[in-house]
Amino acid sequence: MKVMVINCGSSSLKFKLFDMEKNNVLLAEGVIEEIGKEKSKFNFKTHKMKKDEKVVKEIKAENHTAAVEAVEKALIDPKTGLFKDKIEVDAVGHRVVHGGEKFSKSALITKGVKEVITDCFEIAPLHNPPNMAGIEVCEKIFKDVPQVAVFDTAFHQTMTKQAYIYGLPYELYERYHVRKYGFHGTSHEYVSKRAAELLKKDIKKTKIITCHLGNGASITAVNGGQSFDTSMGFTPLEGLVMGTRTGDMDPAVVTFLMKKEHLDADGMDNLLNKKSGLKGISGVSNDLREIMEAARNDNARAKFAIDIFCYRITKYIGAYAAAMGGLDAVVFTGGIGENAVAIRKEVCESLGFLGIKIDDAKNESKEKEKTISKGKVKVMVIPTNEELMIAMKTKWVAEESKHTFR
Ligand code: ADP
Repeated sequence: MKVMVINCGSSSLKFKLFDMEKNNVLLAEGVIEEIGKEKSKFNFKTHKMKKDEKVVKEIKAENHTAAVEAVEKALIDPKTGLFKDKIEVDAVGHRVVHGGEKFSKSALITKGVKEVITDCFEIAPLHNPPNMAGIEVCEKIFKDVPQVAVFDTAFHQTMTKQAYIYGLPYELYERYHVRKYGFHGTSHEYVSKRAAELLKKDIKKTKIITCHLGNGASITAVNGGQSFDTSMGFTPLEGLVMGTRTGDMDPAVVTFLMKKEHLDADGMDNLLNKKSGLKGISGVSNDLREIMEAARNDNARAKFAIDIFCYRITKYIGAYAAAMGGLDAVVFTGGIGENAVAIRKEVCESLGFLGIKIDDAKNESKEKEKTISKGKVKVMVIPTNEELMIAMKTKWVAEESKHTFR
């Protein structure tokens, strides 16, 4: 079975094509950026190309429809492609950010499923509309092929009410579904499963804290293989200090600053989501590598930003160990989690009381997937692979639905 995974952002489209029969081998992958601009950047590679080889070009992609058409064109191109006149896939998996309270697992896309995704536009205005655009184009291009929605929120639907209800009047939850949802679910699920495999333990008997640290960042307490609590909330703004997002703070700051800075709701939203976090504190960048470089050059605010970032992660790990009543492993993933040796060290050094002891040589080693601790609680680095997880889920749903589909 060949599965195409599509991830549509507001101005980008990423795709990966897997052959699930042959050990989930990656046949092709690519990204189109700056969709909607005069020129869009398109780069892709296939498994037939040499290791460092890839096609990089500029295309005209005024919208997501044009972008998917460009992918199709590239994959049937006699020189660079893999197919003769049409892409032959058995299923298409779509990353969908918000599934609200309706989806605790992936779903075959039907009219009803699309209605729920559309209902969530209001609570995920940046993410769900482009996700939906991708679905609608693919329904036209990949006709008669099952399309599957894999939701970022689904993994967290196992949280109990005590974890997801905010201290607001309960009627507001009933009226508007205002609650904690959590995001990055596919990543937290993938790395927690992989951690249990590496620990050689039945996941049902494990307590794992997964730290997905990228530009957006979240931490999840995974108890017995299920999401027990997670740091992101109603939107991805809650929790850790992120690249450009505040994370947790007193909500009264919002109304105070709106008055002081004469900001309307959109202006405040922009400040909280785009101008804050590591970028806002450091004044340097949202990119941790640049902040670390500035810190090495004695920029005090850059140093400060790194310490605040680590402190918040440490606090969440401590809180989630307490919430689960124990801890077997901490997993680091995402661009920062997988690569930032110094961040892992700073966080782990504060957690000795939990039985965490970092092994510096392992932490600094070049291996991609590794255990970096020598204490009772294991600390692991596991590269995330959200697209593979989406492909696997798509395959399961497509196979289950075969009898109804064909
Ligand atoms: P996104 O959430 O956009 O997918 P990524 O998971 O790609 O983000 O992570 C991006 C972050 O990872 C950036 O802050 C970047 O600086 C950081 N990063 C990547 N490589 C390193 C590294 N070697 N050391 C420190 N930070 C790194």
